[in-house]
Amino acid sequence: MSELFVRTLREDPADAEVPSHRWLVRAGYIRRAGPGLYSWLPLGYRVLRNIERIVREEMNAIGAQEVHFPALLPKEPYEATGRWTDYGEAIFRLRDRKGAEYLLGPTHEEMFTLLVKDMYSSYKDLPLSLYQIQTKYRDEPRPRAGLLRGREFVMKDSYSFDIDDEGLAKSYAAHRDAYVKIFNRLGFEYVIVHAMSGAMGGSASEEFLAIAENGEDTFVRSPGGYAANVEAVQITPPEPLPYDDAPAAHVEDTPDTPTIATLVDLANARFPRADRPWQASDTLKNVVLMITEIDGTRHPLVIGVPGDREVDMRRLAAQLAPAEVEPFEDEDFPAHPQLVKGYLGPVRFAEEPEALLGEESMTKIRYLVDPRIVAGTRWVTGANEPGRHVFDLVSGRDFTPDGVIEAAEIREGDAAPDGSGPLTLARGIEMGHIFQLGRKYAEALGLKVLDQNGKLVTVTMGSYGVGISRAVAAVAEGTCDEKGLCWPRELAPFDVHVVAAGKEDVVGMAAADLAVQLDEAGVSVLLDDRSVSPGVKFADSEIMGMPTIVVVGRGLANGVVEVRDRKTGEQVEVVVEDALTEILAAVHGA
Ligand code: ATP
Ligand code: MG
Repeated sequence: MSELFVRTLREDPADAEVPSHRWLVRAGYIRRAGPGLYSWLPLGYRVLRNIERIVREEMNAIGAQEVHFPALLPKEPYEATGRWTDYGEAIFRLRDRKGAEYLLGPTHEEMFTLLVKDMYSSYKDLPLSLYQIQTKYRDEPRPRAGLLRGREFVMKDSYSFDIDDEGLAKSYAAHRDAYVKIFNRLGFEYVIVHAMSGAMGGSASEEFLAIAENGEDTFVRSPGGYAANVEAVQITPPEPLPYDDAPAAHVEDTPDTPTIATLVDLANARFPRADRPWQASDTLKNVVLMITEIDGTRHPLVIGVPGDREVDMRRLAAQLAPAEVEPFEDEDFPAHPQLVKGYLGPVRFAEEPEALLGEESMTKIRYLVDPRIVAGTRWVTGANEPGRHVFDLVSGRDFTPDGVIEAAEIREGDAAPDGSGPLTLARGIEMGHIFQLGRKYAEALGLKVLDQNGKLVTVTMGSYGVGISRAVAAVAEGTCDEKGLCWPRELAPFDVHVVAAGKEDVVGMAAADLAVQLDEAGVSVLLDDRSVSPGVKFADSEIMGMPTIVVVGRGLANGVVEVRDRKTGEQVEVVVEDALTEILAAVHGA
């Protein structure tokens, strides 16, 4: 410790929002270099390397081979797949001295595809899995929580190449098994959830989420084993209803009812139903949003949801990506005078009813609805005049949306789409993502091989990522306590932290002697040999979080040292002669 390049801090860094960020900075593991950019200090770098080692071992075990690409990449392959534009502002772009355009790789599907295309030409060469551990760059709109969402970060990305779907399914399963092993070894609580494949395209897709209150992802689970990122939940739509004997739509005066609650109250007071009171879920709420397409064009979009549900902006954004979505602001309304704020609906009733929303309507504004709004459902919704609503507006009879969209919030207690029970919601940190990409990249970049019959076929691919630097923070987040970091054994920078607690030479010598013995026994040791008070040393040992802390101090007079378990706080005194054996047993989990 007297030589280690480290300084622990007594104060929390001002920009730290979450415990892992706070402790990693305070314990001297990382330092901020810029927004979303961190430098690794010796302790932090050892944790990062440990995670890399685990990931390498498990990747190698399934026969994946390690390669390494540049982080600085030419733009052409990314143009060929459309991602040069699809990735939008998240790509760091740059020009060389000749004016040629480059990017700092946000992920490497294109490069792997081209490399395999360069080298392989026959089905006999497949299956193949390649991986790299590489620094990635994304100009994230909101870098946050230290290493959890950086603009430069370390990712393991691997790619499988197969001749057919069956092969892809096997490669995917092998990766999934490897991921289970990796995350079990990293030692945190995780869930595997159905996921969206986002900007990547492709089909089957799962995420590994660390369960964490501070996570940015929300996932749902059911008692019957359904688990999904909330973005990926697809509700089971009800059956269409007959509407032959439904009454005709009728417009009513509903003054001062700009909200769903005021509308429901008024409907119950003035137009009571015979069977039961009106509820928010009888109303159709139409929410206007402003969409910015990848090419920069902007246009409104209206989403219709049952009035008892909000539009979930994350679910919506996931559906619309790579286009971006923002709320429609008050100053956007004047440019669209047909949209009456608070009284928006799909139909206008001037003389004849006329469609107001939809690509075929007078406004040509795209109109998407929640899947619950099936044909035959009847709604109370805005009549597109201030203070007026329409009742008994029947979907499929009176209005036809342009399509459906999964953007309504998912609530605690909603039924799981597979009928496996009520959903509960929790938060998590995305640690890994595996998906069956299919042929999108191989097609775009012309990766074909000859099959058994001498016919050229397009290769099918899988893509698999682990956030290595994010894992450092996620494990810290899941394991730290009120005193500091608290590493699982496989990740800790050192196995044992030996504290020489006392000024006397005998203390220093006994501590150093024990450290040497441990070192010779193959245990990595951090020895606190500084001339600072025992109190400072104890506090630092707790902040830094090595799993075993050995205190050589006052007890030495009685021939004992103290062995502490950082996680449980358990302390035992052991006689000096047995110390080595006892500590080795603790380290090796005996
Ligand atoms: P997120 O939804 O959190 O932005 P993503 O879907 O963009 O993640 P992928 O493109 O699938 O992530 O990348 C694979 C892995 O890389 C993720 O599972 C995550 O662990 C990690 N990762 C992604 N973005 C970042 C980042 N900005 N900082 C640190 N790790 C990241
Ligand atoms: Mg992302």
